Amino acid sequence: MRYQNTYANLDPRLYHKQPPTALKNPRAGHFNLALAEKLGWTEDEDLMSRWVDILGGQYVPTEFEPLAMAYAGHQFGQWAGQLGDGRGLLMAQVLDNSDTLQDLHLKGIGLTPYSRMGDGRAVLRSTIREYLCGHALTTLGIPSSNALGFVVSDTPVRRERMEAGAALMRVADSHVRLGHIEWIASFAPDLLGEFTDYMIDTYYSECRDSDSPILSFLQKVVERTARMIADWQLIGFAHGVMNTDNLSITGSTLDFGPFGFMERFNPAWINNHSDHTGRYAYQNQPAIGYWNLNVWLPHFMRLPDVTREALAECLAPYEATFMQHYQQGLCRKLGLTHETDSLQLAFDFLTLLEDNLLDYTNGFRGLLGLIDPDTHPYEKQLLVTMINELPPEALTLYQAWRERYFTKTATLTKAEVVDSLQNNNPVYVLRNSMAQRAIVAAEQGQFTEVERLYNLLANPYNVQDIATELDTMPPAPDAPQLPISCSS
Ligand code: AMP
Ligand code: MG
Repeated sequence: MRYQNTYANLDPRLYHKQPPTALKNPRAGHFNLALAEKLGWTEDEDLMSRWVDILGGQYVPTEFEPLAMAYAGHQFGQWAGQLGDGRGLLMAQVLDNSDTLQDLHLKGIGLTPYSRMGDGRAVLRSTIREYLCGHALTTLGIPSSNALGFVVSDTPVRRERMEAGAALMRVADSHVRLGHIEWIASFAPDLLGEFTDYMIDTYYSECRDSDSPILSFLQKVVERTARMIADWQLIGFAHGVMNTDNLSITGSTLDFGPFGFMERFNPAWINNHSDHTGRYAYQNQPAIGYWNLNVWLPHFMRLPDVTREALAECLAPYEATFMQHYQQGLCRKLGLTHETDSLQLAFDFLTLLEDNLLDYTNGFRGLLGLIDPDTHPYEKQLLVTMINELPPEALTLYQAWRERYFTKTATLTKAEVVDSLQNNNPVYVLRNSMAQRAIVAAEQGQFTEVERLYNLLANPYNVQDIATELDTMPPAPDAPQLPISCSS
């Protein structure tokens, strides 16, 4: 691998260098070969043959420079003070095969000075959820961390019950969070200039050409965050804990805990059972993104020539950027171009899904069956089956909508519409129930279901033979929600 451990050269107040604390008897959970190839990991025999030992913290290759990062954050709207890597370590930074810097971060690997009351460990169930979700979002085309693999072990970990300790090698284009700046502002304000330079040079080097690199960088962070959240809304992803310590400065999805993918469409849906007020409900995500940036940006006023007015100008385009990306995406999900009447059709379709509690993913994918008679038999039946269950008034509304949709799609070529429907509406997302089945099997020592889901989600935009009915089945409308909490 092409190592480039630049974070380890920053001011030592920003981190604590230390090795991992090994797990007992680590065993392979799953290994992401495609990502390993991208990183150049596969070219190193030592890394390949000892990946379980490395992820289990038994062996640290000499080029690695493990460290725990300090950061702070606002959690559920409150200032939480110092947080930091309490159970993870940045192990190494490497250039991948497209020359992008990637962080290798091992999560679940013991105590650090930032562990607070925690035990430094991660359990198998949350590790599997993070592993599969990073993979799912990546293949769906949404900027996200991913993972090289995970191991399970004989280290006991106490949560609500005793569970097996696990570790995940997360790979992300950055682990610098909004909360890093909040930490610096509170605990080492003299480092702000140097650290801002590091962020610009490492992640936003194109901003160096601007008259005001700092403002240009901040504008880009705002833009990328708005676009990432628009992507989440379009795919139906709810992050669940959008605290400032869980948002990356690169606008890439980070820190999977109580996340979920939308099933029966309900914009007010809260996946995180610990979120009693619904702060991080699906429909609040765009506003929370704004809230987070709004508490984050003022720290930069400490830097020369950065005024409150200039920062307000950086933040102002957030809403328009979000709206444009979201609305364009929504039209594409109908196979249409971005126009007022396309958008109205999309909103009316969402209302139809919401009023009848229809499945978000299947509803959109089912549109293919309306447009393309040659589509896969599964897709041809998808909307038909859903519509058959509608009460008569809803059926009439649907039929009227379908006529308008046919009129609109007739203004485009069939190939254009089909292409856009196929590429913007996945067949498969990671439903909570799917992850749960893989977890139950893995807790019995069986990782074949993780492997199957990994393969299924590698190709989410195509119908696949390895799928089962359960992979596309939403819960019954009156079924109690699976309890997904922050416990991890
Ligand atoms: P999270 O809710 O996973 O984003 O974590 C918030 C903060 O708590 C971060 O600083 C984590 O490193 C820390 N943390 C979470 N779980 C543990 C744990 N089991 N041991 C130590 N620190 C933890
Ligand atoms: Mg976190």
